[in-house]
Amino acid sequence: MPILNRAAELQGEVSEWRRYLHENPEILYDVENTAAFVAAKLKEFGVDEIVTGIGRTGVVGIIRGSGSGSRTIGLRADMDALPLTELTGKPWASKTSGRMHACGHDGHTSMLLGAAKYLAETRNFDGNVAVIFQPAEEGGAGALAMIEDGLMERFGIEEVYGMHNMPGIPVGQFAIRKGGIMAAPDRFTITIKGRGGHAAQPHKTIDPIFIGAQLVGSLQAVAARNADPVHSVVVSVTRFDAGTTHNIIPDKAMLMGTVRTLSEAMRDLAETRIRQIVQGLASAHGAEATIDYERNCPVTFNHDHQAQYAAKAAIDVAGLPNVDTEVDPSMAGEDFAYMLKRRPGAFIFIGNGDTAGLHNPNYDFDDEAIAYGVSYWIKLAEQRLSE
Ligand SMILES: [Zn+2]
Ligand SMILES: [Zn+2]
Repeated sequence: MPILNRAAELQGEVSEWRRYLHENPEILYDVENTAAFVAAKLKEFGVDEIVTGIGRTGVVGIIRGSGSGSRTIGLRADMDALPLTELTGKPWASKTSGRMHACGHDGHTSMLLGAAKYLAETRNFDGNVAVIFQPAEEGGAGALAMIEDGLMERFGIEEVYGMHNMPGIPVGQFAIRKGGIMAAPDRFTITIKGRGGHAAQPHKTIDPIFIGAQLVGSLQAVAARNADPVHSVVVSVTRFDAGTTHNIIPDKAMLMGTVRTLSEAMRDLAETRIRQIVQGLASAHGAEATIDYERNCPVTFNHDHQAQYAAKAAIDVAGLPNVDTEVDPSMAGEDFAYMLKRRPGAFIFIGNGDTAGLHNPNYDFDDEAIAYGVSYWIKLAEQRLSE
C-alpha cells in the first residue's frame, strides 16, 4: 500500500479528533474551542513554535526538519463550520442546533493535525513546515485576515498548499488541475429607480419592473455574447424584489445575483460589462440605476510547478489511476485563493465518496479518507523539503 503505514496507524486517533470537532462546531472567527484544541495538540506533539491569534483566531505551528535548510512551506486547513442544523443522526452529530460541520473542515483540521504529529515525530525533511489553521473560510475571509497579520513574512513561508474533500470523488482518489480550480464568487445588488404610478397609466410612469425584467435577460449577454466561448463565466440573478399589488407600478426594483469566473481577465470583463448594461438599459428607459458590485475572494489559481508537485505527492499516495490531474474546475469559491495570490502553491481535492454534497444537512466527512489525506501532506512536505 502506498499509504504510509504510520498514517494508517494514526487513522483511528485522527478520526477521534475529527468526531470531537464534528460534535463541537464553531462559526466563522468564533472558533476559540477548536483553535485551543489545535494548539494543545501541537504542543503535545512537540511542535517547535506555536502561535495563536493570527487573523483573530488562527493558529500556526512551525515544525523544524532535521536538516540545516531554512526553506519553509505552508500547509493550510480551515477550522470553521456552517450555520445549519445537522440531520445525519450520527453518534458524533453536532451537539449544537443551528451549527454543523457540513463542509468537512473538521476532517481538514484533523488530517493536518495527523500530519503535524508525524512530521514532529520523524522530522525527515530539510527546512520548516508551517501548519496553518485558519478561521472563517465560510464567507469571512479568514485567510486574508491571517495574511494581513503577517502570516507569510513572519514565518518566511515560500509556498502554500491547501486541500478540500469532495463528495462524488471516490475515497482514495485525488483531483487537481493547473490554473483556475475554483471560481471568484463575486456578487451584485442593483437598484433601479423609476417613477411609480397607476398600473392603468403606464405612459405616466417609468416602470422599474419592465426594466428589471429586461435586465435579467440582458445580463446573460455577458456569458452568451461577451465572453470567449472557451472561457467560463456564470451570471445568475438570484433575487428580484419590486412592487406591492395589482394596480400600482412601483418606484423601485432591486435585483441581486452572483458572478462566477475562473480568471482575473474574465472577472474584470464581467464587472465592466454588467456595469455598462445596467447603466445603459436604465438610461434608455429614463430610469436611474445604482449597482453595488462586491468582489469576494479571488480565483483559486493553481501555479503550474506547485500543481505538479502536489499531483506527484498524490500519485505517490494513491497511485496514478487514482489522481485526476485535469479535473473540471468548481464554480464555488474558496478563500485559500487569497494565499495563492501571495505565494505560489496549489489546492487539491480529496475524494469523500458517495456522501451528501457539501453544505447539505446530511453531509459527513468520511473518516476512511484520513489515511490518504495525512499521507498526502507528509509526502508533499518531505518531497518539497527533501535534502
Ligand atoms: Zn463550504
Ligand atoms: Zn469548505
